[in-house]
Amino acid sequence: MSQNRMRFAPSPTGFLHVGGLRTALFNYLFAAKSNGKAILRIEDTDQNRKVEGAVENLMESLKWSGFQFDEGANIGGEYGPYVQSQRLPMYQKYANQMVREGKAYFCFCSAEELTKIRENQLAKKLARPYDGRCQHLSQTEIQKRLDDNMPFVIRMKIPQDFEEYHVNDLIRGEVKFKTSQIDDQILIKSDGFPTYHLANVVDDYYMKITHVIRGEEWLPSTPKHIQLYEYLGWPIPQFAHLPLLLNPDKSKLSKRQGDVATEDYRKKGYLPEALINFVALLGWNTQDDQEIFSISELKEKFSLERVGKAGAVFDVNKLKWMNQQYIKEKTAEELYELVQPFLPEYTKKLDQEVLTRILTIIKDSMVLLTDVDQKLDLFCKENPTLSDDALIAISQTEDAQKVYKALLNQLEQTDNLSSENFGSLMKAVQKETGVKGKGLWGSIRVAITLVEHGPDLGAVVDIFGKEKCLKMIKNVIQ
Ligand code: GLU
Repeated sequence: MSQNRMRFAPSPTGFLHVGGLRTALFNYLFAAKSNGKAILRIEDTDQNRKVEGAVENLMESLKWSGFQFDEGANIGGEYGPYVQSQRLPMYQKYANQMVREGKAYFCFCSAEELTKIRENQLAKKLARPYDGRCQHLSQTEIQKRLDDNMPFVIRMKIPQDFEEYHVNDLIRGEVKFKTSQIDDQILIKSDGFPTYHLANVVDDYYMKITHVIRGEEWLPSTPKHIQLYEYLGWPIPQFAHLPLLLNPDKSKLSKRQGDVATEDYRKKGYLPEALINFVALLGWNTQDDQEIFSISELKEKFSLERVGKAGAVFDVNKLKWMNQQYIKEKTAEELYELVQPFLPEYTKKLDQEVLTRILTIIKDSMVLLTDVDQKLDLFCKENPTLSDDALIAISQTEDAQKVYKALLNQLEQTDNLSSENFGSLMKAVQKETGVKGKGLWGSIRVAITLVEHGPDLGAVVDIFGKEKCLKMIKNVIQ
């Protein structure tokens, strides 16, 4: 049996869409699981959509996500080049061959003519936007127009002598498409560049791709691709079209309702492991509904059989939850490295040891790496104070005020403060005020940590020491 070969074939539009990230991941996992090869191909033949720096950006996002392709752009391999704009003569060759064989034809229709034809077709309730009129031009007429330098495109002929195309899809089973609805697709545009359809098929053949795993939006194009394989006498790869990604309101995932670029998630403080884990579950799951997967576990457990047809909802709250789980698993030392890009300027004076200790304390309450900024306020700001009304109310109760005054008193009589003697001071406060339990600990927690639930009080006290604790208590005494 030949080796499985998969490809991720993004068009460099300026960023790596999270849907693209999922496609890359599923290709990568399928290759890993089946001892196959994952190939990275850049589909950059659309000159109108060219964006400066887009390829670099794409590569950067793929690298951040932790992918390692076996072959491809910037990697190399025996079927290169892996960038379509570097393979133009190849597409031209096959387009010309199909013209010679009567499987494709020159079309000279102008944009205005095409609009008219489309309107006509619509009026006649015909689904094909183009009526195929240039197919019937005589050889002399074609030559004359070519000699006159008339702009042209090359279109493939969709034969109209059978009723349906059948696409066998590994996820959807057999999908049928009416031949009468499939347009004579342009293969070579008037600028001489191939369209996605031709370039994609030629490259998949040349790169010996066995499985085409891509988004559902390409399913309607697949009959055209099948026709091209047949025209060129090439074996047809297996297809798997991944379900659409949806906004929570079930509409197609869009920028308007949230971030769609992988780099946005990186900038917002998500960990690549969490994002990968999250996108793995967009359309795929295990029988037992496990949610947290390391990449090696994904490689082991992934299968196309458990990818569904139904659209997958992109629930950012679930992603946040996952990110939190992954942050919790990091050691403070690992986190120290990870938060570096997100540290505000004023924390730069903290030394590594202190910052690592602080990270140990705040780690469990961090959802995003960017949270570090606000969580460090307590430790780094000169005079952090309560700002939340509900917490201010807690600090103003009679019991709380009694407790603060008693603790102030205790602190003033102590040489230093650490987690070791803090317990006994609190006992003394309890004895003196008669306040205990939540009334006692809750009010002190609010005064010292400025939150109701959060970091370990003893650990915070340890870092603050006597002076800062005194200051914090004075801040809340009325
Ligand atoms: N270049 C296409 C895209 O960016 C790839 C489609 C395919 O995988 O065939 O979505």
